[in-house]
Amino acid sequence: MRAHRLAMPTLAALLVAASFELAAVPVNVTYTDSAGEGFFDPVLGPARQAAFSYAMNLWASRLQGTVPVQVQASFDPLGGNASSAVLGQAGFTTVHANFPGAPLPNVWYPQPLANQLAGSDLSPQPDITAVFNSDVDGPVVLGATSFYYGTDANPGTNIDFVTVVLHEFGHGYGFTDLIDSSNGQWLLGQPDIYGLQLTQHGVGDFDTMSNAQRLAALTSNQVYWNGPNVVAAKGGDVKIYAPNPYENGSSISHWDVSNTPDLLMEPAYFGAHHDIDLTKQAFQDLGWTVLPPAGVQDWCLY
Ligand SMILES: [Zn+2]
Repeated sequence: MRAHRLAMPTLAALLVAASFELAAVPVNVTYTDSAGEGFFDPVLGPARQAAFSYAMNLWASRLQGTVPVQVQASFDPLGGNASSAVLGQAGFTTVHANFPGAPLPNVWYPQPLANQLAGSDLSPQPDITAVFNSDVDGPVVLGATSFYYGTDANPGTNIDFVTVVLHEFGHGYGFTDLIDSSNGQWLLGQPDIYGLQLTQHGVGDFDTMSNAQRLAALTSNQVYWNGPNVVAAKGGDVKIYAPNPYENGSSISHWDVSNTPDLLMEPAYFGAHHDIDLTKQAFQDLGWTVLPPAGVQDWCLY
């Protein structure tokens, strides 16, 4: 389709280079709310969809892939009180091992990543499901504080929805462990690629542990991400959130709150944050090919 440019040697070189260019992963979003509510709320719906799309595009632009990511998203009442609430929840829906192209044998990979590594859709299930707490926009949960649906990272005293979506889809794309928090076992006796990045200071890597050791590690407050890309970026391993007692939905699947500056994948909202920061290197450790930010070129032909 660009053949008319082939007469120009410089552009021919561009075409050759372009064949090596990595493409952002396509994403298909289905809003599963009923008519008139959630993402289809007559007042808030358009702004909710716009902010959600903004965050989804930000993620997709950074992840290389060819297999469309199927996303289902909704708003539902998740409760809370005047000072505390779950803002959203998201996760991948299936995991896969020993698929064609799997980097490591007998290791679970989350569906959105496994699909890209395999080059085909390994499951008809949606890859990622996400729910956001509609109660936040009401008067009771978090009081007068509501979601902010602008995309300029300037939420004032409200909660930046773009940040929440970015965080939740960090989980959806793979920033989540599969370890059984009741007994320390891997899922069906097989490690997950996230768990393989983890080490406990003074004990060792999670894949060298007994189930009892791994169970103890979950609440040791001494868990660190030891994957090579994160270590190279930070000059050492990086602390993972592993408080005692175990916090369902928070422990292990977040960076520790002591990290400075704050990181997108910490367990609590700390303000507007539109940067995937260290999630980039963590995702590289998991097996994602992460693209440079839009507008940044790694090479120049001119
Ligand atoms: Zn989280």
